[in-house]
Amino acid sequence: MNPDKPTILIIYTGGTIGMINDPANGSLKPFDLNKIMEHIPEIKSLGYRIESHSFDSPIDSSEIEPAIWTRIAEIIEENYQAFDGFVILHGTDTMAYSASALSFMLEDLAKPVIFTGSQLPIGALRTDGKENLITSIVIAAAKEFDKPVVPEVCVYFESKLARGNRTTKVSAEQFNAFQSANYPYLANAGVHIIYHREAIRYPGEPKELVVHKEFNNHIAILKLFPGITSEYMDAVLGYQELKGLVLETYGAGNAPTESWFLERIKIAIEKGVVILDVTQCIKGSVELGRYETSRHLLNAGVISGYDITTEAATTKMMILLAQNLDDEEVKMLLNKSLKGEITLP
Ligand code: ASP
Repeated sequence: MNPDKPTILIIYTGGTIGMINDPANGSLKPFDLNKIMEHIPEIKSLGYRIESHSFDSPIDSSEIEPAIWTRIAEIIEENYQAFDGFVILHGTDTMAYSASALSFMLEDLAKPVIFTGSQLPIGALRTDGKENLITSIVIAAAKEFDKPVVPEVCVYFESKLARGNRTTKVSAEQFNAFQSANYPYLANAGVHIIYHREAIRYPGEPKELVVHKEFNNHIAILKLFPGITSEYMDAVLGYQELKGLVLETYGAGNAPTESWFLERIKIAIEKGVVILDVTQCIKGSVELGRYETSRHLLNAGVISGYDITTEAATTKMMILLAQNLDDEEVKMLLNKSLKGEITLP
């Protein structure tokens, strides 16, 4: 074995890339990783040492839950020294959540962790899975001066590499399924793979990988809509164990100013619920205080999520709330960019 060969671990969790039609009902269901590999013999010609780790029962990513993020992180932790990079095959539906979660879980990560999948199964004639998987492997193996080119948790899809915690799934139809609306792509793959090094986060002093494995999922996402009722607010905020709320507001972080609405926000904050304001807009940032309609939220103690995605906000909140931090520390960390997930003004 050539010791200089890049070493890549593929972690197969499931998703369309590895699905086939169940003749019993015509629905797509996952099959095993060996079958995926049979469809891409080209991988051998990369000349890398590629190993794989497959979930015993691959899943549709709608079944993802925090315990599965812990499992993925533990597989990376156990194999961290032995591999140059990791490729995670995952369904597209919740890939942005999983990539966000992993970015916060893997403290002091210094190697590439690339999530990918596809819109069409690998066995389909027009599959997008082949290119996605092959290029993800190449990116996970890329080094310069013996250092990984992209030592981050990323999503690679349809010729674009994005920081994982900046992505959102925007299409259930097109191959171009993911968008990084508020942050530049880290690489574009055409004839050549062009890395945008100025956008990539590089670690400072080498440190040991620390994995945060706990989540507190007593949180809620409340999306505002014209006509929202006090009963609806009460149903969400009245939940006994509630510790955090991602409040999806309008535009630059705006919300109704009616007293019944603000009273409920204030009471929740007094009860110890951390409320993070994120915008429903795919692009742009919350600017608390820019409009009268957000100044009230700021005064009530709502925190700005700036341009964070809902996926990154929920996973970051679940991880911070599971740590032994007091509310003020949680708020302070929500307001900071921990893994490049927000652009501070
Ligand atoms: N339902 C699938 C999943 O997320 C969709 C996909 O992989 O594209 O597992």
